[in-house]
Amino acid sequence: MGEDMNPEEMKEMEQKVIGMCICLSCPTYVQGADPIGYCFPTIGKNVKIVEEDQCICLACPVFAQQSLTKTFFCTRGSEKEQKGGA
Ligand code: SF4
Ligand code: SF4
Repeated sequence: MGEDMNPEEMKEMEQKVIGMCICLSCPTYVQGADPIGYCFPTIGKNVKIVEEDQCICLACPVFAQQSLTKTFFCTRGSEKEQKGGA
């Protein structure tokens, strides 16, 4: 995700992901752990979230749309990071 995008397109995509993100309804989410959209490469893990409960990413429209394979992006890093990318 995001490999062939220029910085402007990345920013646009990032905003779309944040808009669709359902992390705010997740039991693992901690208030103030912004920005959400942790799966996206420009966002990734958040230092405020340390305890993993459930991950509801599978129910998020972004998960299917971006063909994501990982979960717990907030604690383990973006899809790209978890796959060994930057
Ligand atoms: S897949 Fe997870 S981290 Fe990514 S936008 Fe959806 S709920 Fe947020
Ligand atoms: S990335 Fe997964 S575990 Fe973390 S807040 Fe979002 S839905 Fe919950």
